[in-house]
Amino acid sequence: AAMRETRIEKTKTVCTFCGVGCSFEVWTKDREILKIEPSENAPVNSVSTCVKGKFGWDFVNSQERITTPLIRKGDVFVEASWDEALTLVANKLGGIKDTYGSDSIGFIASSKITNEENYLIQKLSRQVFGTNNVDNCSRYCQSPASWGLQQTGGIGGDSGTIKDIAGAGLVILVGCAPAEGHPVLATRIKRAQKLHGQKLITVDVRRHEMGDRADLFVRPKQGTDYVWLSAITKYMIDQGWHDEAFIKAHVNHYDEFLKMIEPYTLDEAEKITGIYKETLIQMAEMIRDADGTAICWGMGVTQNIAGSHTSVAIANLLLATGNMMRPNAGAYPLRGHNNVQGAADMGTMPNIFPGYQPVTDDQIRAKFEKAYGVDIPAIPGLDNIQMLEAIDNDRIKAMFIAGEDMAWVDADSNHTQEMLSKLDFLVVQEIFLTTTAQFADVILPGTPSLEKDGTFTNTERRVQRLYQALEPMGNSKPDWWILTELAKKMGFDWNYSHPSEIFAEMASLTPFFAQCNYDVLEGWNSFHWGSLDGSNTPLLFQEGFNFPDKKARFGLFDYVPPVEFPDEFDLSLDNGRLLEHFHEGNLTQKSEGLNYKFPKVFVEVSPELAKERGVKDGSLVRLVSPYGAIRLPVLVTDRVVGKTVYVPMHSSSHESAVNLLTGGAVDVVTHTPAYKQAKVRMEVLTLD
Ligand code: SF4
Repeated sequence: AAMRETRIEKTKTVCTFCGVGCSFEVWTKDREILKIEPSENAPVNSVSTCVKGKFGWDFVNSQERITTPLIRKGDVFVEASWDEALTLVANKLGGIKDTYGSDSIGFIASSKITNEENYLIQKLSRQVFGTNNVDNCSRYCQSPASWGLQQTGGIGGDSGTIKDIAGAGLVILVGCAPAEGHPVLATRIKRAQKLHGQKLITVDVRRHEMGDRADLFVRPKQGTDYVWLSAITKYMIDQGWHDEAFIKAHVNHYDEFLKMIEPYTLDEAEKITGIYKETLIQMAEMIRDADGTAICWGMGVTQNIAGSHTSVAIANLLLATGNMMRPNAGAYPLRGHNNVQGAADMGTMPNIFPGYQPVTDDQIRAKFEKAYGVDIPAIPGLDNIQMLEAIDNDRIKAMFIAGEDMAWVDADSNHTQEMLSKLDFLVVQEIFLTTTAQFADVILPGTPSLEKDGTFTNTERRVQRLYQALEPMGNSKPDWWILTELAKKMGFDWNYSHPSEIFAEMASLTPFFAQCNYDVLEGWNSFHWGSLDGSNTPLLFQEGFNFPDKKARFGLFDYVPPVEFPDEFDLSLDNGRLLEHFHEGNLTQKSEGLNYKFPKVFVEVSPELAKERGVKDGSLVRLVSPYGAIRLPVLVTDRVVGKTVYVPMHSSSHESAVNLLTGGAVDVVTHTPAYKQAKVRMEVLTLD
């Protein structure tokens, strides 16, 4: 008899490894992932992908997946049915709510799950449990950038699209390394350099690939970006190189702004930042001469105590020079996770409903109260960082954490893990037994992107659909299904049968999405949110800025100098990504191909420091901070200079995870941990 052939299925999906938002077809046969096939129809990447998008998918079929609900019994987890697990969660969380009040529970959403699932987490928190204590991991990375752009333009998103970055006359990269973190976006810049002579300035404490490729590489002292940005802005205004007509027509608070930046002379900036005056002038001249300047920034800016204020300084520079409201220019915070933009857009933050609608606005709150049929607190809830503090103060008793390995992602991991262990009840929705999940009382097995329908929103505010390529593994379930069933157990009949219905409900309550639905997003189509009439808006602010008078505002927020450390911590600790891996490595370290290319973390040490301490490649050192200690082999490299060392963040081992060293200070506005303002001392363990 003829053997029956299983057909090869081709399913369109969106990459889950960074905020660029590449889409492609995944070819599958049963559960086997045969290949990733990019397409000319893909709006962001066309036929390109990077190594993660192409080879990073082994984790989906990993034997380590959690495939059935687990309930803690003493020191072990015991397998349970969905009914048992969800009943227990509903009873426990319901009981804690009744005993200690709604605000004794905290919810953490995820930038790895879909928009629809994030929407449901904020709905679960606000409707079912009656609290605004909901946050997502943008608190660890991009909240300062979003806040800075909201203050100045009224919208916390990229000004335009990746096409506008590629079309700019000048790109300035500040504290971001796109060749490692956003590879396909970096190839767009590399191509623009060749095709139309695009100029590139890279500003970073570490010289990464895009530093090598820059026309001008600038290395400021850690945490001083605000100062050189303000000094260049002031210098350009003093020289008459600003755009007076644009400012008059479109920007408020000019006089106050001039007064505020008065102290930031070139001399002062040279002193504080370590960048020579001549270099600052050269940067100003390059902005003056460019047909459109686009500034991209990342964690090197935002993970500082001045992260929010520095993001404002970037917007101020762009406003002063007329580099907003036009194509091929503008502000581009580069979102790290694939759906970090979407998680925030969906209202998984303590102060906003979906679409950045404030919970403090009576009219808006009334709209959601009517839709949800409950009262919603008028004051913002606690953010991530405040929730951990509240555990310490006994005010938070239980948490629901979806797809976020807080135990390693938060600064000062020792402290975070201690706080998680203090909770009365912890629910973790996950695909792997992460360190965070090991603290859980109940683990609910969700599914990765290939096993469900939904949408992701990339760094350009572009919403794209992903289609289910595989059945959920074992007894795991799509996260939206889990949340819906939990709400049901709590007496709320959400009754969704498909994510399209969740999206439609969200869009009906959210002006930015009013004209978006699953039909608009069919296949390779996509939609950029950004106008209050809900139309597709690739380029922001065409009808004016998002304030009642349609004018932007210069931000009037002053410099916050870096945190001081005791003298014994004499080395500045930088940290970030490598090309082959993703975050704490939970996903990519389960891919054989990627692990082969990059097996272990290390510490980069400058040749000067190596000489001074007598270490060489492979020497084992111990790095000690006020918060903890790790052991790593040395890699001597001129990517770092002097007393700056660099540790990749892709480790979740108690031996080598960088967040055992970070901690303490946070951004003054958004509480984003100042991961980049860490200091350590180095002890040499072995020399070979
Ligand atoms: Fe995926 Fe980002 Fe690579 Fe594109 S650039 S394939 S979105 S990791």
